[in-house]
Amino acid sequence: AVVVGSGAGGAMAARTLARAGLDVVVLEEGRHHSTASFAGRAPLERFAELYRDGGATVALGRPPLLLPVGRAVGGTTVVNSGTCYRTPDHVVERWTKDFGFVLAERLGPYLDETERTLNVATQPLDVLGRNGRIALAGAEHLGWRAAPLRRNAPGCLGSCQCVVGCPTGAKQSVQLSVLPDACAAGARIVTGARVRRVLVDPDRPGGPAAAGVRVRREGGGEFEILAPLVVVAAGALQSPPLLRRSGLGGHPRLGRNLSVHPATSVAGRFDEPVTAWEGVLQSVGVEEHHDGGVLIEATATPPGMGSFVLPGLGGELRRELEDADRLATLGAMIADRPSGRVLGRDRTLLRYDLDRRDGDRLMRAVRAMGEILFAAGAREVLTGIPTAPRARDLGELDAVLAAAGPRKLHLSAYHPTGTVAAGSDPERSPADAGGRLRGVTGVLVADASVLPGCPEVNPQLSIMAAALAVTEAYLER
Ligand SMILES: Cc1cc2nc3c(=O)[nH]c(=O)nc-3n(C[C@H](O)[C@H](O)[C@H](O)COP(=O)(O)OP(=O)(O)OC[C@H]3O[C@@H](n4cnc5c(N)ncnc54)[C@H](O)[C@@H]3O)c2cc1C
Repeated sequence: AVVVGSGAGGAMAARTLARAGLDVVVLEEGRHHSTASFAGRAPLERFAELYRDGGATVALGRPPLLLPVGRAVGGTTVVNSGTCYRTPDHVVERWTKDFGFVLAERLGPYLDETERTLNVATQPLDVLGRNGRIALAGAEHLGWRAAPLRRNAPGCLGSCQCVVGCPTGAKQSVQLSVLPDACAAGARIVTGARVRRVLVDPDRPGGPAAAGVRVRREGGGEFEILAPLVVVAAGALQSPPLLRRSGLGGHPRLGRNLSVHPATSVAGRFDEPVTAWEGVLQSVGVEEHHDGGVLIEATATPPGMGSFVLPGLGGELRRELEDADRLATLGAMIADRPSGRVLGRDRTLLRYDLDRRDGDRLMRAVRAMGEILFAAGAREVLTGIPTAPRARDLGELDAVLAAAGPRKLHLSAYHPTGTVAAGSDPERSPADAGGRLRGVTGVLVADASVLPGCPEVNPQLSIMAAALAVTEAYLER
């Protein structure tokens, strides 16, 4: 078997197939980075290396949306925040009933297995840092549901650098957890290897069938690996173009149905130092509005990387930066409609038009974050809205939001899904209910693309469990 991509889904697929005795090769376009290499270099340098497009992937639309994804052995898990949510029950029900993605019903044990592999546990209070504790205090004051997040980072020291590679190795991204197991079971990983196309034998008696892949090496040159099983796990933004350039992109829904779980953030200024970068980067979840599609997480970033919300230019911006240790930051993500699209064959082009309902959700999310920060004692809230960057109380925040509208928000997203969705309806789903690409035999889809819709929580556990389900179902057959 050939597995394209070594991220959350690809790693799980490789481990499952290797343990079952298949001869497995994982092809990864990015390079391998060690924990020691993270510890020795500045965050911004690592940022440029570990992300596709240097972290500047953007979806066109109004407003445009920054959509960074990882490119390294371990994929985006190398740069993710380590937050671990199980797929909510109502999401499993929707995937099963509305899409006929029957494997979703079997996710429970696969989520358990993933949690064991990644050492998932509730983040202890002592390393949260003040950013997280402020979120807890604000939520408690309001009587809202909030708690330290469950994470895959036992022994986390609160270095606040997850998104540029954990410098202590505490975060169990898949290159430190799943991939070593896969290699112990015989899998091999080839780095700097971009899969150009999936090879297809059109003349098989049962119809077209996978025959392997054609690969371009980083330093130039190409080679082929022949294999009867190809697992596509290049991520929700790269899998559709790969299938198109392989002549397998004919399904009209391929590349459509893109949900991104859009995010926006605000900061609160406090009288006392917060020093948000001393502690866990993503530390506390506020779930009070989750039923309404809004999930708030206290999220700090290394200085210089979280400066979207800072107002002003020149001297004003400089004063803001000098005062940055008094800022606490929250982020919110909203469960969105699948209003995006992945275009392109060789290079990905993204389009995402914010749905009107989702725009309203984002505005509600900003207000809720403001409420938490003011309840925790913030002197002002920085909105990130260029025309009205500050609000000194909730009344001012409401006025700012009423005047601005969602198109003025600075949006980013970290959780693209759904672009090669699995389901029972052949017209609606490019992959069948077992995650097999339609129209060809021997191609499995085992990454974020295969999820039929937004998981409404940080998705790594859902993706890994789905990859397990897809590959186990293949082996059973
Ligand atoms: C900053 C950030 C923070 C995040 N935080 C969290 C979090 O706290 N919790 C959570 O649950 N989720 C988080 N996520 C999201 C989560 O990490 C991803 O959803 C998940 O890793 C996606 O898994 P995947 O297998 O679909 O793709 P990826 O993990 O992105 O892996 C795809 C891999 O395929 C490779 N590839 C692509 N094309 C090719 C090709 N043609 N040939 C060879 N290789 C190729 C890529 O280089 C990449 O390494 C975060 C994401 C970001 C960006």
